[in-house]
Amino acid sequence: SREVQPQSSEVEIVPGLTIGGKEFVVAAGPCAVEDRDQICDTAVAVKQAGARLLRGGAYKPRTSPYSFQGMEEDGLKLLAEAREITGLPIVTEVVNPRDVELVARYADVMQVGARNTQNFALLKMLGQLDKPILLKRGMSTTIQEFLMSAEYILSEGNRRVILCERGIRTFETATRNTLDISAVPVLKQQTHLPVIIDPSHATGHASLIAPMSYAAAAAGADGLIVEVHPCPEKATSDGPQSLRPDDFQVMMDKLREFVKVA
Ligand code: PEP
Ligand code: MN
Repeated sequence: SREVQPQSSEVEIVPGLTIGGKEFVVAAGPCAVEDRDQICDTAVAVKQAGARLLRGGAYKPRTSPYSFQGMEEDGLKLLAEAREITGLPIVTEVVNPRDVELVARYADVMQVGARNTQNFALLKMLGQLDKPILLKRGMSTTIQEFLMSAEYILSEGNRRVILCERGIRTFETATRNTLDISAVPVLKQQTHLPVIIDPSHATGHASLIAPMSYAAAAAGADGLIVEVHPCPEKATSDGPQSLRPDDFQVMMDKLREFVKVA
């Protein structure tokens, strides 16, 4: 908490890149890794637009067990190839405590998804790693519960935690979730940890990503994680909430007018 540590934490991702400092850091990429061209082409495009990390899921926590579950280690290998080509560090989700060691061999940042925010066994294992953790807020967790989940990681010794607001469950159906934009200043008041926004899962609609990203920047967020796909109509998951690379570029150019992005 801020009471224990008044100054904001800057979380180092790789040498030369931190989240929580002066730069507004954007991670972008597809929901799921699908094939070599898809991930490598996206990586090149998002880097060109100013993204500093590449996102992509190799293990997908799908609502239905019959939906595409991810490429698993083959997907991690393709992410590593895309990193090799672009130099972008990779952020990817780990769903199961049993896969922590394997995912950590490839990932620069380990993502905990909204369905695992209170998977305390997973959080404790991640607390023992020497790697940054991107912790998403669960769709029905309060800010207090979210912060306690972060404590599960911190208390094991890993201080490199980045918080991510990705929308919460409300009665509203016009959007996939309801982006709790006030979570940004509330979290900033209560904790020294960096806070980023995921406008893709928060809204479920590509057309709402840019306005919510500008709102996130205005609210004081430290960055974004955004879904970008070269051909959203063909995406195996979350196509409707994925930006095309050229729309991502337009959004980044606009963001550059009021925050410091690469
Ligand atoms: C994701 O980022 O791919 C994801 C599954 O998001 P969330 O855990 O926020 O639903
Ligand atoms: Mn997704």
